[in-house]
Order: sequence, then C-alpha cells, then structure tokens
Amino acid sequence: MATVTQMKCACESCLCVVDISKAIEKEGQYYCGEACANGHSEGSTGCGHPGCNCGS
Ligand SMILES: [Zn+2]
Ligand SMILES: [Zn+2]
Ligand SMILES: [Zn+2]
Repeated sequence: MATVTQMKCACESCLCVVDISKAIEKEGQYYCGEACANGHSEGSTGCGHPGCNCGS
C-alpha cells in the first residue's frame, strides 16, 4: 500500500502541499497548519513555510 494522498492546502493563497495524514482537517478541507485552518484570523501570520506568503 503506497497510496499517495497529498493535496494542496485549502488556503487559497497558500502554496503548500500537505500529506493528508498530517494535515489539519477542518470542515472537510485540508490545511498545512493551524494558521491556515483558522483562516489567518486572530492576528496569526502565515503558515511559516519558506516561500509561502499566505496570510500576509
Ligand atoms: Zn503555506
Ligand atoms: Zn497552508
Ligand atoms: Zn494559509
């Protein structure tokens, strides 16, 4: 069993691709991290991954 289960983070401006088994799932969508899953609210910054400008 070597099923590839990767998806782009559901955050529109995020470029990250995440492994579903490691992603943050929220309302049926997968995010690379809590910041994206929360829609970058509450003063959070981007996901923190190099080269990704989401949340800014
Ligand atoms: Zn990202
Ligand atoms: Zn993300
Ligand atoms: Zn994001």
